[in-house]
Amino acid sequence: MIKTIVLNNRPTGRPTVLDFKSITEDIELTPKDGELLLETNYVSVDPYLRGRMNDAKSYIPAFELNKPIQSGVVAKVIASKNINFTVGDVVCGMLSWKTKQISTGEGLLKVDGSKAPLSSYLGVLGLTGLTAYLGLNQIGKPVAGETIVVSGAAGAVGSVVGQIAKILGLHVIGIAGTDEKVDMLKTKFGFDAGINYKTSKNINQEIAKAAPNGVDIYFDNVGGPISDAVLFNINNFARIIVCGAISVYNNTELPNSISVQPFLVRNSALMQGFIVSNYADKFPEAIQHLSGWLAEGKLTYTETIVDGFDNIPNAFIDLFDGKNKGKMVVKI
Ligand code: NAP
Repeated sequence: MIKTIVLNNRPTGRPTVLDFKSITEDIELTPKDGELLLETNYVSVDPYLRGRMNDAKSYIPAFELNKPIQSGVVAKVIASKNINFTVGDVVCGMLSWKTKQISTGEGLLKVDGSKAPLSSYLGVLGLTGLTAYLGLNQIGKPVAGETIVVSGAAGAVGSVVGQIAKILGLHVIGIAGTDEKVDMLKTKFGFDAGINYKTSKNINQEIAKAAPNGVDIYFDNVGGPISDAVLFNINNFARIIVCGAISVYNNTELPNSISVQPFLVRNSALMQGFIVSNYADKFPEAIQHLSGWLAEGKLTYTETIVDGFDNIPNAFIDLFDGKNKGKMVVKI
């Protein structure tokens, strides 16, 4: 039996489970020459997948209706007719939401479960860690002693950004959606201060209080009013890394945001969009740093692991309710 999850509808607004369809097929898959058969172990669910559910031009193609959804997957090779892979190898790559699938091996990286937990290759040692490291360094250009604000701070990318910033000697302020998450930022990840955006009466003022010297870098994972509030606190030559905007991904109308230009002009500030795949040449350097810090115990991570293939859509939807701490991963 092979299960597949396909895109059933293009969502309007917030996605629901009805936008996905699970198909079960009683078929045997046999690899041809050059192919391998994979059995899925872990599936990554990520906010950016929401954009791929729309039929819109983007940096990555839209999912097709009635075709499998794809995301980062860790899978085991269970049959191989490809000389580069042997049975028992574990690989990571962009694969379909299927319990088993055939691959040519293209784009797959072998990963070693004895060096780090397999799920971490979808998180801190995967695109999440790369996004945090490269977004911060390539656009943020951090300097010890500076102040950074990170939104979505208790999530997969944000929690790594804040820790790297601490390693580099910055004053780190995180913004997250529950008191428990804010507490975790300080006690587990070493942030200097945290703000709960859901209970804060005035985020702008709370940022000013937590950043008495102003904000030099803003790592933006969420967009919307939280990011507007940070703009009121930026310093001269501040750098704003626009990594994501989850607060508006489900909008059906254009958001009422403030005009950023006066803030940028007044502060000679830089605001730049970031897409991790544009920095592929720097992945080896980033992985070397991330795995080194992990081994030294300077970097840690947390994961929310949901069990069961059928729960992939719900795990994805739960990202929009902040049900995850750190990386949201589904274990098959
Ligand atoms: P994540 O932060 O682990 O999960 C999403 C988090 O967003 C939730 O836990 C929730 O936390 C927060 N959130 C949900 N709705 C919100 C809202 N309306 N306002 C504020 N916060 C909200 O996800 P991730 O994988 O690390 O991704 C974080 C961001 O980076 C996303 O925007 C994603 O698209 C982006 N990203 C970009 C790249 C790139 O190359 N540009 C690569 C990876 C990720 P709370 O409980 O705190 O609300």
